[in-house]
Amino acid sequence: MEIQYKRCCTCASKQPITEFYRLKSSPDGRYPNCILCYRKSRVPQKKAIKAGRRKWERKIREEAIAYYGPNCACCLEGQFEFLSIRRIEDNAPVEGPHTPDPYWLKRKGWPDGFHVLCHNCHHTLNRYGYCPHGGIGFKGYPQSPTA
Ligand SMILES: [Zn+2]
Ligand SMILES: [Zn+2]
Ligand SMILES: [Zn+2]
Repeated sequence: MEIQYKRCCTCASKQPITEFYRLKSSPDGRYPNCILCYRKSRVPQKKAIKAGRRKWERKIREEAIAYYGPNCACCLEGQFEFLSIRRIEDNAPVEGPHTPDPYWLKRKGWPDGFHVLCHNCHHTLNRYGYCPHGGIGFKGYPQSPTA
């Protein structure tokens, strides 16, 4: 079988046709630049998309934390980066995930049965079933046996 070659329009090197991504709308069915150059050209674009998504993710998270918090229900930590949302076991909607995605909550119209916890308290509760803080303003969990 004869190998077809093609010259990359970016790096100008001649390469086997398989080194070019397929593109239906192009006359020879391939991209004008080779895979390597194509990928390089996409990096800034991808970064911009990623940055945009991060910004948007943060916005939804901020909305969710503000609605269910804004402080950790156990230790009252208020630093956004430390906070997460957790299902309140005693009061949980049956289909609710344990650690819901902020988008899921938003899509469901901010359902009841969730609260904000800092990662510290969140993790401790998951692991031990109580938090040594004793749960200030916090319902649904037993206190530490020693508290
Ligand atoms: Zn190239
Ligand atoms: Zn906490
Ligand atoms: Zn705690």
